[in-house]
Amino acid sequence: DFALYHAKAFHRGKAVLFAPDHEAALRRHAAVEQALRRADLATEFHLLYQPIVDVAGGQVEAYEALARWNSPTLGAVSPADFIPVAERSGLILDLTRVLLAKALDAVRGWPADRRLSFNLSAHDIATPESVEALIALVVASGIDPSRIVFEVTETGLMRDLGDARRALSALKSLGPCIALDDFGTGYSSLSYLKRLPVDRLKIDRSFVTQLDGDETSLAIVRAILDLCRHLSLDCIVEGVETTEQMLLLRSVGCRSMQGYLFGKPMPSGEIAAFEAMVAGRSIPVPAAPPSLS
Ligand code: C2E
Ligand code: MG
Ligand code: MG
Ligand code: MG
Repeated sequence: DFALYHAKAFHRGKAVLFAPDHEAALRRHAAVEQALRRADLATEFHLLYQPIVDVAGGQVEAYEALARWNSPTLGAVSPADFIPVAERSGLILDLTRVLLAKALDAVRGWPADRRLSFNLSAHDIATPESVEALIALVVASGIDPSRIVFEVTETGLMRDLGDARRALSALKSLGPCIALDDFGTGYSSLSYLKRLPVDRLKIDRSFVTQLDGDETSLAIVRAILDLCRHLSLDCIVEGVETTEQMLLLRSVGCRSMQGYLFGKPMPSGEIAAFEAMVAGRSIPVPAAPPSLS
């Protein structure tokens, strides 16, 4: 039967094309999970800090903490690889607590008005106990809670909007503000804005990447900026890599930006030198010297 033959051939072709990739991904996932279960979180993980700058005022506003893992068996593993695995295996709660403690410790050495922006996973705020644990860490650190921004992504929050709202409100009542990360990439960004106590939006990097030669992306950025003005939300664009992008974004009213143009994620120990360099230059904040990422 000709049709059947073709279906089989097609199927076989597909299997040959896709199976090895898929298998490799599964093997990788298993290896990451095994290494993660054995990992000494306190020593194998560290944070790098990427500046968020105010291009209108020419100042650094905050640093976003970004997790890095040096596994003794796997080497450097990207957060895009280990965060989902940590979430699925339940290890994320411990990891977040270790990282938040490290970040709060690092903030002590920063200029007094710099904020810490810290990424939370949806699992971190899924239960009242896990939220309490985060609050306890902030309180124990003695850091002014209003210096802290907790970033959450809408994709992670999808399941339980009511729980998410209660958790974020509890965090906010202590002083931190809440940022909706990767804004515009999920399915229901606008209903999240309506239903969650959000203070700021981070426009996803994909809109910036497509700015060159794409009228639509710029129109979307403008619309999000308008939305932020009407809702009194701060707005940050992430992933700004070129001067052209920065100028275009600034011309439509973006003030707060983050991206390699201003600085790559750096160890906390390099922040003092970075601050000194920024202070010595004029607006816009210049590119940082190359740093480990
Ligand atoms: P994110 O929170 O949206 O962080 C921004 C990501 O974009 C970071 O990747 C950063 O290094 C990268 N980036 C910043 N500026 C530029 C740029 O100009 N160009 C390009 N190409 N990339 C830029 P990273 O560090 O690999 O983190 C990836 C994601 O992993 C983060 O996205 C966040 O969702 C998650 N993540 C990182 N650290 C943590 C953490 O401690 N906890 C949790 N729950 N998630 C984390
Ligand atoms: Mg983030
Ligand atoms: Mg982001
Ligand atoms: Mg992201």
